Amino acid sequence: MSLPDGLEVVAEFVNTRDIEPGTDEIATPEALKTWLVARGLLPKNTDVSVDDVARAADLREAVRALALHNNGEPVEVDASRTVLDEAARSAGFTLRFTTERANLVPDATGVAGALGMIVASIAGAMASGSWERLKTCANDECQGVFFDRARNHSRRWCSMEVCGNRIKARSFRARQTQSE
Ligand SMILES: [Zn+2]
Repeated sequence: MSLPDGLEVVAEFVNTRDIEPGTDEIATPEALKTWLVARGLLPKNTDVSVDDVARAADLREAVRALALHNNGEPVEVDASRTVLDEAARSAGFTLRFTTERANLVPDATGVAGALGMIVASIAGAMASGSWERLKTCANDECQGVFFDRARNHSRRWCSMEVCGNRIKARSFRARQTQSE
């Protein structure tokens, strides 16, 4: 199922790091390049550096924190907002108009431009209102992002079967321990 406003690639980007098995799809310059090229965000002949990997990882965790904030969790977001501001500055956006909408287009090339496109999708989703439905799973052993399609925006976990039930079982055990 595809997500609105370019949030598909934003969600995929955040989920490149899978906390529980400890895997990271964009942990090296080569891996980051492959990932971005596969999504049409980067031309094939681009050099990708270790610094680019660090910048991508910072942006990824900043977006994860903001999406956790969307899930109603008390999270400090000032540093995360600054990371997005920086990514936007590095992208050097130009506003390009169609007859229906204005699009942020990065002037920067390379990874700065590619990360800029991810930030531009977030900006578009914020403008259209879909952004608040992108949430980080409330299970802190998971922290995957998902799109909340529930009418009242009430979803807390990426998967009720896995994360939801696990959290519920844990709080049940906690209550049992307290009452012993
Ligand atoms: Zn989860």
